[in-house]
Amino acid sequence: MENTTIAAISTPEAAGALGVVRISGEKAIDTAAKIFTPVNGENLNDTKGYRAHFGTVHDAGARIDEAVCLVFRAPHSYTGENTAEITCHGGLYVTKAVLRAAFNAGAVPAEAGEFTKRAFLNGKIDLAESEAVMALISARGKQAATAALNTLDGRLSKKIGECAGKITAVLASLAAWVDYPYDEIEDTSPSEMLKVFSSAENDLNEIIERYDTGRVFTEGIDTAIVGRPNVGKSTLMNLLSGCERSIVTDVAGTTRDVVEQSVRLGSLILNVSDTAGIHETADRVESIGVQRAKTRMQRAALVLAVFDSSEPLNSDDLDILEACRGKLSIAVINKTDLPEAADISGISDYVTAVVRVSAATGEGEKELEQAVSDLLCSKDFNPENPCLQSERQRECCVRALGCIKEAIEAIKNNITLDAVTVCAQRAVDALLELTGEKAADAVINEVFSRFCVGK
Ligand code: GDP
Repeated sequence: MENTTIAAISTPEAAGALGVVRISGEKAIDTAAKIFTPVNGENLNDTKGYRAHFGTVHDAGARIDEAVCLVFRAPHSYTGENTAEITCHGGLYVTKAVLRAAFNAGAVPAEAGEFTKRAFLNGKIDLAESEAVMALISARGKQAATAALNTLDGRLSKKIGECAGKITAVLASLAAWVDYPYDEIEDTSPSEMLKVFSSAENDLNEIIERYDTGRVFTEGIDTAIVGRPNVGKSTLMNLLSGCERSIVTDVAGTTRDVVEQSVRLGSLILNVSDTAGIHETADRVESIGVQRAKTRMQRAALVLAVFDSSEPLNSDDLDILEACRGKLSIAVINKTDLPEAADISGISDYVTAVVRVSAATGEGEKELEQAVSDLLCSKDFNPENPCLQSERQRECCVRALGCIKEAIEAIKNNITLDAVTVCAQRAVDALLELTGEKAADAVINEVFSRFCVGK
């Protein structure tokens, strides 16, 4: 297959100090040489790899910008191919002009994730590591970034490879047993096989559990802020996010739609939606918001139900408390800076925890952080251990685990070793799909289609 030379902007399309246009493929350096002239007069085609040149970028003789061009020669580059990276001035016009020049010089537009896909196809990184690249880019906190970086370094792939290796060794012994059924083959004794499969079962259970626990830190927890109008939901949202995202006013029913935002509360990430006040309303637009708020509350993994401590609780408040029953919920008793008029003595019967805050002054924010952390962090999450980076990887692990359990059952119930072989082979296949060693083209394409262009 002819290797095309691809080009794309790898930095965000926004005004910025610097922008990077990346070119990769057999003719990448030649393409860059057509549009970039180093000030020292050297031709990029004569340049060794790992070199940076300062010069000008031009298109059909017209100067576009002053820039730096990095040259990497195959296989010593991210993609494993010849690569040129032109670092020009960032911004909406210049980077696009440089990209257009690269196209005019023969490059074609890169598809989403095509640079990383080429790195994968050239054996620079495996599929699990490729997904870690995406996870690292989208990491919103230290824990997520550390976990992604460790996976990118191969920590997960190593663990999965060890697991697959152990089972493959059993499979090899089972194959030998099929050829020489009357010989004693030690590894195929039920106790030996059980030892191997149980150890793989433990490893996978641990990895899946870590992913589920870690999601609170890496992806955040779906959180709904609910409460009747004017109790201070938007003010609380603004306190958590540290900016004026929601419109705060003292006219009831201002927040008409659901505002979604990720906020950091200590080391946790809350994907918070600030919803329209839950109350009966005749206002048509607002009633759509109220309906959404109720749906949002049902869907959320954590509910922050806000109440105004300066007013007596009313029937709307009680409706909300009723809806909190059985949900992971914190009653946020707001406006503690004002004289207290609400009787909150029975509230803890409905919710998981009660916290008193003043969203306006910030008082009680630490207590709220502690309450959320106490509710969500029942287990420790150590991102230094092998971490899964996607639902796809989790599904592969779950599938492998199911097959290992079936193999264990088959051994315990004295079912033929053929059945054990089938289950063990499926487990290995699922693990090799995770790392991409044995993944269908459709799976690979799906993984990279979720990347951004230029990565
Ligand atoms: P929402 O309708 O529940 O989103 O309520 P808002 O956040 O818009 O707040 C309604 C009103 O209550 C605004 O005037 C806020 O300034 C005020 N408010 C919110 N939180 C507090 C608080 O902790 N103390 C005081 N004194 N006023 C607050």
